[in-house]
Amino acid sequence: MEQPVTVTIEDSARAPTTLSVQVSSLSWGARLGRGLKTLGALWLASIASILIPGLHFVLVPGFFVAGLVFLVLRVRGTVRLEPGSFPCPKCGVAVPIEDGTTGWPAKCACPDCCARLSLTPR
Ligand SMILES: [Zn+2]
Repeated sequence: MEQPVTVTIEDSARAPTTLSVQVSSLSWGARLGRGLKTLGALWLASIASILIPGLHFVLVPGFFVAGLVFLVLRVRGTVRLEPGSFPCPKCGVAVPIEDGTTGWPAKCACPDCCARLSLTPR
């Protein structure tokens, strides 16, 4: 279910501006599914990296821990921003909202001036 949400766009150099974006809320099951899919992929990479001599001392625990970290991060995103764009507050170029962006705060980067922008609901 999509709904419009007024967000504040912030970067470190300018006063915050506001904008309306479409968001859809993610159910607990959808969030858990996304998290478990990521966990499974990273743990498969962990198991596969057992076969790499030398590097397996770093890759196996690295992928294992990364799986747990990304599980928590994927479950925490309660809304998904619909793909679109908004004008950069610094240079005015359209900043894309990538498909799969979750919040809050949602992070975007201007493709022209590389400003790191943070979108938070008002
Ligand atoms: Zn810009």
